[in-house]
Amino acid sequence: MKGHFVISLDYEIHWGVFDKKTVDEYRENLENVGKVIDRLLEMSDKYNVKITFSTVGFLFAEDKTDLFKYIPENKPTYLIEKFSPYPLLESIGNNEKEDPFHYALSRIKQIKANGNHEIGTHTFCHFYCHEHGQTVEQFDDDLKSAINIAKPLDIDIKSIVFPRNMIEANKLIDRPYLDVCHKHGIGSFRGKEKAYIYNIHTTKFYHGWYLFKMLRLLDAYISVTGSNTYKVEVINKDKKVYNLPSSRLLRAYSSKLKFLEPLKVRRIKKAMTHAAKHKEMFHLWWHPHNFGTQIDENFKNLEQIFKTYKKLNETYGFESETMTGLAKKIKASQQE
Ligand SMILES: [Zn+2]
Repeated sequence: MKGHFVISLDYEIHWGVFDKKTVDEYRENLENVGKVIDRLLEMSDKYNVKITFSTVGFLFAEDKTDLFKYIPENKPTYLIEKFSPYPLLESIGNNEKEDPFHYALSRIKQIKANGNHEIGTHTFCHFYCHEHGQTVEQFDDDLKSAINIAKPLDIDIKSIVFPRNMIEANKLIDRPYLDVCHKHGIGSFRGKEKAYIYNIHTTKFYHGWYLFKMLRLLDAYISVTGSNTYKVEVINKDKKVYNLPSSRLLRAYSSKLKFLEPLKVRRIKKAMTHAAKHKEMFHLWWHPHNFGTQIDENFKNLEQIFKTYKKLNETYGFESETMTGLAKKIKASQQE
């Protein structure tokens, strides 16, 4: 197999941060998500780059009545209640026009109409698999809703990104969640980077181990953990749901650390080149709302990355793929 460039975006608008911030506290970023999607589609057309939009199921609803049709009876029973978005449904608007922070049907249709990209799931309600109190049965019902709400749009959900990356491919405790994915025809997920600083177990440490946060920040600019690229056909031998681990989070442009921006982009380009030369996968991800402020600066960075992709495509046959596109290639390579 050749090297591959995969991009997955956690498309969620307010549903990705509802437990941390109100709409007003994050308004500018959230307000511009539509604009960001437009520019992403435009730029990915220009460089022929494919994107997997891992989309929260709530965003597919036409209006509140439509949304309520898909809500599972068996909702997550988190011990910490603020993790459940369901109480918030009382106060959201009725449809995308009234409330573009909680609905995105027209955008989803626009992405689908483009034809080049994949729409995957980020679960129905931004489900947290590592939070205490929820069960695998509740996850099963949530995933069913995520799949069903996409059906009227003729969207077949085939890949998943777990909210807050709460999945560990090799931990026994997470296996039932992947079995549920397999049962519903999900062929791939985005796992965490192989490097240890990204792999601390989320229930224990997620809510604040600052040393690891600092190391991750440093790793964005200089190589602490190497390229984090993968021979996906090897790591997924005999696996039912393929793990397409993250290589790097594309952090938002930082005015405070402006002088370090070139280093950040250079680090990504180097890892992509490594992947292209060694026939590995480089998997980049972020949230569209990360680009919601300083949009031009963020797209300038992204364009440099896309230009590098184009060069690597011409030189080494490095290919852009959606998660499901790559999963199909892995499957074919294993049947040879
Ligand atoms: Zn999310």
